[in-house]
Amino acid sequence: MKCCRCPYPASAWMTFEYSASRIEMFELPDESDGYGGYALCDRHAGRMTAPVGWNLVDSRATMLTLFPVADIVSPAMPAVDVA
Ligand SMILES: [Zn+2]
Repeated sequence: MKCCRCPYPASAWMTFEYSASRIEMFELPDESDGYGGYALCDRHAGRMTAPVGWNLVDSRATMLTLFPVADIVSPAMPAVDVA
């Protein structure tokens, strides 16, 4: 499967949920049949931004390795002050 925007091989799958103004990014499915969406390569998936008023949700598992959960959670964690 190729990227819908360039000749490179696709690595991600993007779907539009118009009723919720939501764009979601997934791992590339084995079969594109039955999926309404677009294939994207790494580069285009990484550059994808949501239009104004839309949410972009990245549900790809690879996000977990790129951004370890601890790094995201730690700064937002309130200081625990046990008396
Ligand atoms: Zn591409």
